[in-house]
Amino acid sequence: MQRYDVLIVGAGHGGAQAAIALRQEGFAGSIGLLGAEFEPPYERPPLSKDYLAGDKTFERLLLRPLAFWSERQIDLLLGQTVVAVDPVAHGVTTADGAVIGYGKLVWATGAAPRRLGCAGYDLAGVHSVRTRADVDRMKAEMEAVERAVVIGGGYIGLEAAAVLAKFGKRVTLLEAQDRVLARVAGEALSRFYEQEHRAHGVDLRLGVGVACIEEKDGRASGVRLLDGSVIAAQMVIVGIGVEPAVAPLIAAGAEGANGVKVDRQCRTSLPDVFAIGDCALHANRFADGAVIRLESVQNANDQANVAARAIQGGQAAYDAVPWFWSNQYDLKLQTVGLSTGHDAAVLRGDPARRSFSVVYLRRGRVVALDCVNAVKDYVQGRKLVAEGVRAEVSILADASFPLKEILEKPH
Ligand code: FAD
Repeated sequence: MQRYDVLIVGAGHGGAQAAIALRQEGFAGSIGLLGAEFEPPYERPPLSKDYLAGDKTFERLLLRPLAFWSERQIDLLLGQTVVAVDPVAHGVTTADGAVIGYGKLVWATGAAPRRLGCAGYDLAGVHSVRTRADVDRMKAEMEAVERAVVIGGGYIGLEAAAVLAKFGKRVTLLEAQDRVLARVAGEALSRFYEQEHRAHGVDLRLGVGVACIEEKDGRASGVRLLDGSVIAAQMVIVGIGVEPAVAPLIAAGAEGANGVKVDRQCRTSLPDVFAIGDCALHANRFADGAVIRLESVQNANDQANVAARAIQGGQAAYDAVPWFWSNQYDLKLQTVGLSTGHDAAVLRGDPARRSFSVVYLRRGRVVALDCVNAVKDYVQGRKLVAEGVRAEVSILADASFPLKEILEKPH
């Protein structure tokens, strides 16, 4: 039986970084980096941005050149899916029946796109955006697409809609809630992005439900709404959130449900098993201590670093400031902190000039910023979020007053 001192399951952002961090810190044991996809670790964010747009080749998405992994004696075990974990024997079983032993296991399996729960969800022409293979399928069909429907007004749906609109496709975007980005941002940001998409010709519809995907000749031909109307489309892109890929670990007895619970060192409740990235449920100081999952490169990388240190006996605890970005059209959004649960939102600058920020407060303290084409606010606002600084609304709202000059510290 093959056995690794550290076996990492999931060769995405978190898994790759865990292996890199272990070697950077001098870990000399054997490392296996196993993943269901066939590609070596690559960046996922460009999938709905430059890669879909054709502005970046796949090679430019690779997190490290292929030779990097063998040079550092990190075994890439690609195209393999773990279906069971035996926490007593310290081994995993793959879909093709191989058993691989581990000293420590790092579960870094990310999440899988949520599927539509209606008829036609699996028709040809219906796409999710999670992997290179997903996007290559979309790109192969693109030329024949005149009209596309995007279901879901989260970041991924909006980014995909922006690329398709730029390609000159007729795009309809459907959002079930009364505004886009409702789960992650305040209303001002939602309204701004709605307006931008409409200005780029996207037919954006809010508060609409999908009844089913219509079929013609075995392919998606449109989307039927709950009101009975049908929007014709040759391509349907579904961006309605993800489900953490944790079934084998939960079946093995790990605590958790919508994710695997981890402590501040990314340890699960199973001995010698860590979990990081999109699948890890953790208490987050920036969410007022709530137990959450974060879906971001920052979180995957920072948790990977913490787990790598813990594996080597270090005491590092996860306490990183959350950050994220989204590119749509010529708009660069950078967010820092978590705005969920904010009780005040302050607009800095003028959305009409396409450069502004929204500062979010909870109980008088700065908890997050969304900065659109406003790098300075993002860089300076980071510190306010990191330190939970108290700030006056009138000062925050004055875009001519640099955020770095707000010095009042938390009591
Ligand atoms: P992943 O990177 O998803 O890697 C998990 C890997 O595990 C996958 O390759 C999966 O196939 C594999 N796997 C799953 N189950 C198993 C199993 N049982 N056995 C073996 N392998 C398995 N974040 C940002 O910060 N900024 C952005 O702009 C941004 N844009 C994004 C755009 C898109 C289209 C997507 C999909 C995500 C985006 N994200 C962005 C989110 C970010 O990519 C994720 O948060 C990050 O990839 C999480 O890393 P991870 O290691 O937890 O999971």
